Amino acid sequence: MLKPYNTLTRKKEIFKPIKDKQVGIYTCGPTVYWYQHIGNLRSYILADILKKVFLYHNYKVKHVINVTDVGHLTSDADTGEDKIEMAAAKEGKKAEDIANFYWKIFREDFKKLRIAEPDIWCKATDNIKEQIELIKKLEKKGFTYKTNDGIYYDTSKFKNYGKLAKLRVEGLEAGKRIGMKEKKNVTDFALWKFSEKPGLRQQEWKSPWGLGFPGWHVECSAMSMKYLGENFDIHTGGEDHISVHHTNEIAQSEATTGKKFVNYWIHGAFLTFRGEKVSKSKGGLYTIEELERLGFKPLAYRYFCLGAHYRSPLDFTLDNLKNAQNSYERIKNIISELKDDKKINKKYLQEFEKAIDDNLDMPKAISILWGLLRDGNAYGKLRTIKEMDKVFSLDLSKKENLKIPKEIIKLVNEREKARKNKDYNESDKIRKEIRDKGYLIEDSDSGYIIKKA
Ligand code: AMP
Ligand code: ZN
Repeated sequence: MLKPYNTLTRKKEIFKPIKDKQVGIYTCGPTVYWYQHIGNLRSYILADILKKVFLYHNYKVKHVINVTDVGHLTSDADTGEDKIEMAAAKEGKKAEDIANFYWKIFREDFKKLRIAEPDIWCKATDNIKEQIELIKKLEKKGFTYKTNDGIYYDTSKFKNYGKLAKLRVEGLEAGKRIGMKEKKNVTDFALWKFSEKPGLRQQEWKSPWGLGFPGWHVECSAMSMKYLGENFDIHTGGEDHISVHHTNEIAQSEATTGKKFVNYWIHGAFLTFRGEKVSKSKGGLYTIEELERLGFKPLAYRYFCLGAHYRSPLDFTLDNLKNAQNSYERIKNIISELKDDKKINKKYLQEFEKAIDDNLDMPKAISILWGLLRDGNAYGKLRTIKEMDKVFSLDLSKKENLKIPKEIIKLVNEREKARKNKDYNESDKIRKEIRDKGYLIEDSDSGYIIKKA
């Protein structure tokens, strides 16, 4: 049985679902003002692996991912500009069009990386009513106060604020008073922001507190509980969300319902570039499309991610990715030559299951795959690998549709002719010529195979 690491308890725990053989998962989705970079995508590959492990174990999975299309400000301290409004102004487009454009690309990336679409996508702007209702409940219970720019959550009223991040709020209070404006506590955050000048923003709504828009954190509380219930199984996201975004989600949700919000919090470590967070200035901010233009296959990136444990930082360089792509192609080449003996290798499959259940240990699972491929005595390779690929999702047994140029096909035919005539000198010469042009010919019992060198 799956034993994930729970950020809440800082321990690996045996997963116990709320409903037998069912699991509800909420994943914090993209802020759709720009392309998602490969760092972001590492977090969604984690969520996908988690989901596929449950499906592998025949769970019924309900997976929800939100789309942040309003309210995420450039600064986490509830100041700065709304990222979507800013992009819309810069590109001279409607906010909705900006959001839909980047969301569409994000979904295309999902397809390329074989990340399954969630059962429910939910946009913040489609759920304004639910967010207002949640704020009203918080207000009724005395957790809110008004400043001149919005309605804020009073974190001092919530017992155990910061338990997820193990925050020591006192330290924060003493150290960081700048930028507080009218906030009562450093950790307080906006639930509803007022429109500074009505009509200036593209996205604003009427509310009991005036025209404005919801804060970023409130959308995830409102939508996750709407679709998964007031207490649900698993919430995932990148580890940067632990101390603010997820801490605030817990504060809002538990203050409203009086119940435990989420049973298991699973957080992914960052993709780094030369040891530092990927960023515009430091580099590494590639998109999948950019990697494709550089000759990489999206699934090689997925394979690259599976090579590190999700709780460890993973350092990205093009060289590292190239190595991963080579290994990935080698695996696919070996598999393309396997014969189906219609058997499953229970020993290897059990080892694989042990690895994925042990807090999604994918590097271990990949090494078991390699072990099976290299084991000269093992039976059932093809079908066992197909089972494993239900979780890996690397298209391992799908043959590549290699487009072979006419000139290569001509050379291959000439070589066949030479072989038939037993002119092995000539056939070797042609094989070398083919190799120099970037293709390999491999002979097997059932004929020859052409591959890219
Ligand atoms: P955002 O669109 O900024 O809300 O980010 C979307 C998701 O990507 C969140 O779950 C972040 O925690 C995650 N994320 C952002 N940067 C990285 C990174 N370098 N490596 C892994 N995950 C990241
Ligand atoms: Zn969220």
